[in-house]
Amino acid sequence: MPKVGFVSLGCPKNLVDSEVMMGVLSRAGYELTPRAAEADVLVVNTCSFIAPAQQESVNSILEMAEYKKFGRARKLIVAGCLVERYRDEIQRQIPEVDAVIGTGEVEKILAACQGELPANATMNVAAEPPSYLYHDLTPRILSTPRHLAYIKINEGCDHPCTFCVIPRLRGKFRSRRFESVVREAENLAAAGVREICLVGQDTTYYGEDLGLRDGLATLLTRLAQVEGLHWVRFLYCYPNRITPKLLETIAGHPRLVKYLDVPLQHASRGVLSRMKRGSNADAFLKMLERIRRAIPGVSIRTSFIVGFPGETERDFRELCDFVRAAEFDWMGVFSYSDEDKSASFSHENKIEPESIARRRDALMSIQKKISAKKLRGRVGQRLPAILEGPSKDTDLVWEARLEGMAPDIDGKVYITEFEGISDALALPAPGTLATIEVTESSDYDLIARAVEFAAPSAQSSARPQKPARRGELFPILAGR
Ligand code: SF4
Repeated sequence: MPKVGFVSLGCPKNLVDSEVMMGVLSRAGYELTPRAAEADVLVVNTCSFIAPAQQESVNSILEMAEYKKFGRARKLIVAGCLVERYRDEIQRQIPEVDAVIGTGEVEKILAACQGELPANATMNVAAEPPSYLYHDLTPRILSTPRHLAYIKINEGCDHPCTFCVIPRLRGKFRSRRFESVVREAENLAAAGVREICLVGQDTTYYGEDLGLRDGLATLLTRLAQVEGLHWVRFLYCYPNRITPKLLETIAGHPRLVKYLDVPLQHASRGVLSRMKRGSNADAFLKMLERIRRAIPGVSIRTSFIVGFPGETERDFRELCDFVRAAEFDWMGVFSYSDEDKSASFSHENKIEPESIARRRDALMSIQKKISAKKLRGRVGQRLPAILEGPSKDTDLVWEARLEGMAPDIDGKVYITEFEGISDALALPAPGTLATIEVTESSDYDLIARAVEFAAPSAQSSARPQKPARRGELFPILAGR
């Protein structure tokens, strides 16, 4: 059977789509390969929510097209969010592309690879709004380390945020069936996954379209019972949906990590109102107080956009003051990207790119000091952490994460010593929960020694797999 290679760009939600496409092809007998030069078929699952992501997607497509010109590849398939925006342009401007499938057409990957989706078939045809949702029986090949898996619990978004085009790329909000999510979690735990991370554009809205009240809290309560899991995490909260029930649920179950990811986007009332998100800095500070009271020791992540049209120096100062007062554990800052399909594209008073860059750097440097101070406070502490395996950078050091550190987006712990172990073969398996003692800290990471951990079991015979670097073809975890 032909060999197929995948490049998956963008967010964990897009990663799940790539894993489903790999599962569909693998079930049809395709062999997955981590080397583009060996692939007969190459699939690039793209991202396009902001301009830099679009550029990265186009670069990856052109890079893979080279393998079609000079390598073994016979087919190049483009999938994902860039297709939802530029379906016709991709086919017109990159003739090496044999087929395109949108975010709602994930299961058409087999037809695309078998040439049953002729090029230009969808040219100038208004695509249906995406409505696809995978479920627990959908074949899926995980690309994350053996002990970690993302579960997409809902898709699409109905919020009117004026800077955002995701609703156009992903369609209307739709939740997966409750029991399907639970069965998937049970199957993953049985397959050796120890941490699941729930994703969706707005996970806090889960179940509303199914008539569930506090659907996310109810789902978390159920997932907290799944045997074998150490941790259950979720990302992408919408600020005004953080209910007392949700906080109570997180505080009440040891398997539910004490961690909240709440993108706030800004803190100035005027900017938030033009973003069609509402609220303001004072209300957000009260919300953070409520969260920290309900869940002692909770880690909070957020993200902001700087340079939104009309953002004054005063608005920006208000945001800086808010970040100093809020003291987030983790924070991302996006430069406003003027997307032609977004509502804010028609707004006036666009900000100069230099000012946007200056504001982005200024806000990040405020957070850097806060992060460094918080992590310094951890030195000397003994804390539970999940062991991830040898570091991407060197085998001499292992990586781990505290429950307050989400994979790939937050800081990490570098393990420099395993107490009482000198033989590498006696090292515990990735995914093992350990007690670590923090010995040093930096701006965003910790250094520690592992002082207690479960003895290596049969599971540890499998050598840890090095995760793919961004944009690299996935090393396929055979035999999952
Ligand atoms: S909540 Fe707003 S920013 Fe997030 S995906 Fe939906 S529209 Fe975009």
